[in-house]
Amino acid sequence: MTYIYDNQNIFAKILRGEIPNDTVLETDHALAFRDINAQRPLHVLVIPKGSYVSFDHFAKEASGIEIIGFTRAIGKVCDILGVSIDAGDGFRMIANSGEHGVQEVPHLHVHILGGSSAGRMIQS
Ligand code: AMP
Repeated sequence: MTYIYDNQNIFAKILRGEIPNDTVLETDHALAFRDINAQRPLHVLVIPKGSYVSFDHFAKEASGIEIIGFTRAIGKVCDILGVSIDAGDGFRMIANSGEHGVQEVPHLHVHILGGSSAGRMIQS
């Protein structure tokens, strides 16, 4: 399987600085910014800086340093938002992938949703 990355996707443009974003955290390997259409009081997207379409793509082809950097960034975002289990009320993390995952933007992103209950895992 070959993953085809479209470098004109909106998150690639954000990474290149062509489109503004509401940054929560930037590290060597990840960028976190607020979702433009928040579904919960706290709704942040965390993306790796590398060109990965989806989580499976990233899991198979990213380097160990990229995977650690991205994962640690998610932990830091949870701390920044105050949703960590050790200090807050928790969160829902979602990574939509491909057609059946109903992924709109073809650059890997995880949604961190908090500030109120995320409700049941799947509604329909
Ligand atoms: P997904 O369906 O998992 O691909 O989610 C894509 C998410 O990106 C949606 O929640 C959108 O609201 C969000 N989004 C799209 N464009 C932007 C943008 N320019 N800045 C922040 N979030 C965005």
